[in-house]
Amino acid sequence: MTIAQEVKALLSKLGVNEAAYTGGTMPSFSPVSGEKIADIAVHSADDTAKAIEKAAGAFREWRLVPAPKRGELVRLFGEELRALKSELGRLVSIEAGKIPSEGLGEVQEMIDICDFAVGLSRQLYGLTIATERPGHRMMETWHPLGVVGVISAFNFPVAVWSWNTALALVCGNAVVWKPSEKTPLTALACQAIFDRAAARFGDVPAGLAQVLMGDRTVGEALVDHPKVALVSATGSTRMGREVGPRLAKRFARSILELGGNNAGIVCPSADLDMALRAIAFGAMGTAGQRCTTLRRLFVHESVYDTLVPRLKKAYESVTVGSPLETAALVGPLIDKAAFDNMQNALAAARDHGGKVTGGARVDTGHDKAYYVRPALVEMPKQDGPVTEETFAPILYVMKYSNFDKAIADHNAVGAGLSSSIFTLNLQEAERFLSPDGSDCGIANVNIGTSGAEIGGAFGGEKETGGGRESGSDAWKAYMRRATNTVNYSSALPLAQGVSFDIE
Ligand code: NAD
Repeated sequence: MTIAQEVKALLSKLGVNEAAYTGGTMPSFSPVSGEKIADIAVHSADDTAKAIEKAAGAFREWRLVPAPKRGELVRLFGEELRALKSELGRLVSIEAGKIPSEGLGEVQEMIDICDFAVGLSRQLYGLTIATERPGHRMMETWHPLGVVGVISAFNFPVAVWSWNTALALVCGNAVVWKPSEKTPLTALACQAIFDRAAARFGDVPAGLAQVLMGDRTVGEALVDHPKVALVSATGSTRMGREVGPRLAKRFARSILELGGNNAGIVCPSADLDMALRAIAFGAMGTAGQRCTTLRRLFVHESVYDTLVPRLKKAYESVTVGSPLETAALVGPLIDKAAFDNMQNALAAARDHGGKVTGGARVDTGHDKAYYVRPALVEMPKQDGPVTEETFAPILYVMKYSNFDKAIADHNAVGAGLSSSIFTLNLQEAERFLSPDGSDCGIANVNIGTSGAEIGGAFGGEKETGGGRESGSDAWKAYMRRATNTVNYSSALPLAQGVSFDIE
């Protein structure tokens, strides 16, 4: 069976209508073989405007459904995902090139956030606040916000949408999704799975969760539409620089989840076996195409000559190949542009004195696909391409002697997503997590930079955009907070002792 044939069989099982992916104008390719697997029907500007209007109508009804009942829809969605986990996970592998355990892991993340959101649907708590006025009560209430636009990147083609959608729905919102143009099929599959849950639920307002196909112009339409109250945009910092100001101009809310340039520090006391495994997964897993991929490593001079040769060996021996045909740990890059970016970064690193291990294209018999051996680059200092995210498996390794300088270098890049330290020294670990430690949204001890759980708030600082999604209290961004004060006395005392007595 060819990949295109398998895609057709999977989409049929997942319930996707063939008209959505045949005969359209937007071709879709599998990075596994480079072959075309679909021609997607795209949505016009008019379709987009109509979809947003429909979502606004759905929101007006959905906001009145009690939150625990809204949670029931998400519970059913989680059930449907459980039933179709292997099919959707396989489709993620075909469309994004992830190895099977990562494709399935991404769907598991969707299931986990559904479970989280179901619980949350009974916990949208507000505070009761002490008031200075007698006979008064002050409290805050959380209300549904409106239409939530979701723009997502290719590398987490389904999980990011589900993080946003599960929360947005229990919070009483409608969702319009613009997936990456590189991964449209998994988005169509998600919509079909959601529609199954909606059919079981019964009276879901039409247009509550919709997907729109197209390139960035569809995303721009979401960003500019006055009826979209919040846009949660995941992708490159370049995209965020365009989207952020446009949303700010109309005072719309944004959750920006942008690029990362994540680093780790390996200290003298580190458990090197543990560090080695964490670094290998963090830097080479998903072929370096995670926002949380480990890209920079600072290794103390006392352990450098022990750790780095072992790391290089891992780079030389890691298996690279098709995630559909082999048990390789490293799959393909998404496309030729990603390969070219990687080669350009390696050339720039060499110009800055970098010594490169790996990085060459790997022949897998698929001429139109781009497989590479992950690259480890020993750099004399943090310079040139090291300071920017290249969305490919390149790990820049630098030696350090002074811990303060290592932390300063760690923080001296634009992005601020994920970070980790490997140490058994309590002072170093706590310092890394302290106000003058890592400046990232995620800071870990003896764990790699990638592979976050949904229970925590996910996101990063600085050029990563400052947004938070998923767990903890990230739900608050999807709701409107009202502070309410009720006077149950028969007097009208003013706050701060102000008097304003009229006759
Ligand atoms: P990308 O920025 O090229 O595209 C992301 C999405 O934005 C796509 O759907 C695209 O169509 C849309 N888009 C692009 N320009 C737009 C504009 N001006 N207006 C509206 N929409 C626009 O990113 P990509 O190559 O798909 O993904 C890789 C990048 O995403 C990396 O930088 C990675 O670090 C980042 N990422 C970040 C997170 C996070 O949570 N911080 C998660 C995943 C990926």
